[in-house]
Amino acid sequence: MRYDLLLTGGRVLDPGGGHAGVLDIGIRAGLIAEVGPGLRREAAREVVDATGRLVTPGLVDLHTHVFGGATYWGIDPAPVAWCSGVTTWVDAGSAGAYTLDALRTAIAAHRVRVPVLLNVAGPGLAAATGEARDLDNCDTDLAIRTVEANRDLVVGIKARIDHNAVGGSGVEPLRRALAVGRACDVPVMVHIGVAPPTIGEVLPLLRPGDIVTHCASGFAHDPAALDPAVRAAYDRGVLFDVGHGAGGFAFDVLEAQLAAGMPPHTVSTDLHGRSQHGPVFDLPTTMAKLLAVGMSLDQVVAATTIAPARALALPAGSGTLRPGAPADVAVFTVEKGAFELADVHGQRRTAPLRLRNEATYLSGRPLPPALPAAPAPWIPLTDAQRAALASRERAIRALLTVPLVPPHALANQFPR
Ligand SMILES: [Zn+2]
Repeated sequence: MRYDLLLTGGRVLDPGGGHAGVLDIGIRAGLIAEVGPGLRREAAREVVDATGRLVTPGLVDLHTHVFGGATYWGIDPAPVAWCSGVTTWVDAGSAGAYTLDALRTAIAAHRVRVPVLLNVAGPGLAAATGEARDLDNCDTDLAIRTVEANRDLVVGIKARIDHNAVGGSGVEPLRRALAVGRACDVPVMVHIGVAPPTIGEVLPLLRPGDIVTHCASGFAHDPAALDPAVRAAYDRGVLFDVGHGAGGFAFDVLEAQLAAGMPPHTVSTDLHGRSQHGPVFDLPTTMAKLLAVGMSLDQVVAATTIAPARALALPAGSGTLRPGAPADVAVFTVEKGAFELADVHGQRRTAPLRLRNEATYLSGRPLPPALPAAPAPWIPLTDAQRAALASRERAIRALLTVPLVPPHALANQFPR
């Protein structure tokens, strides 16, 4: 057999691989074998009809926290991955030098890809914040040695620069993160938030190719008067990443940046214990928020596939459906209508469409349904979050009690 699996007739949107249109996707041995019109059904062990669906590369979420059981923010990706299309979950700073080995062990149990941004602070995000207040935690030499010894895992450096995370340390933790980034030739992702330090102090330090996450944070920016440092950073080639999270995304800031011709380069969730049950939920929901403010579906798919893969120089083929790439594939129904969505400040916008994930393949195999885990005891859920969690759990339980035919494909539907 030429293919183990053939996905037929879907509308393929693969900006990084150069595919667009109604095409079939042949998969063999966990890799994309061929993409084209009219591939031979008889040559496939299994055929899945994706007619009328949108088919994209498995999504790459540039900002997540998947070090559950060891950090304040960490979650298990399994309950979200299978029904969101996200096959690559970049862990953004959950671990530092002291905890990277334990993160490596945690990742081995995750059925998704997890490239890592090493926190410049050795303890990483074991606690909610404050990791860079004590500069003794930010040991540059140790971080460099840790990157060098873990090149298979670590693709960049993370520093959280806001007044809670750094206390009196100012931008020194960022300077150290940048020193590690320079020494190891990897990008630095900086989180911005409540000042001090201000974005006027933070952004000028960044190099082209470094990443500012929470780029449309309502806590870091004044939407009425964007700091000139924002324009300068954007023009210099600093990458803007959404990193929605529980506090990092404001519609009015994003709209001010769009009006100034500065759309984000990458769209990510910052999915963690306090954002996964709302207002973030998952990457497709975040993507809909970008559609709601006027970005196109092509732009948003690029910003969740090839753009994050390039930003971190992930292995060749990542974020694409190019022949030879891992067969990470997401299948969606595109629902048209008027979908009201909220940012972290309760500002609302209406999206003209949203993506409902129908199937998520990792290396050519469908991710199975998984029930959400109970929130950690220190995570305070709001009533709305509690209700969202309960309804999600009910929907998945209902799904698990009926036989799925075919056992995996196009069967991930559940109400939100
Ligand atoms: Zn984060």
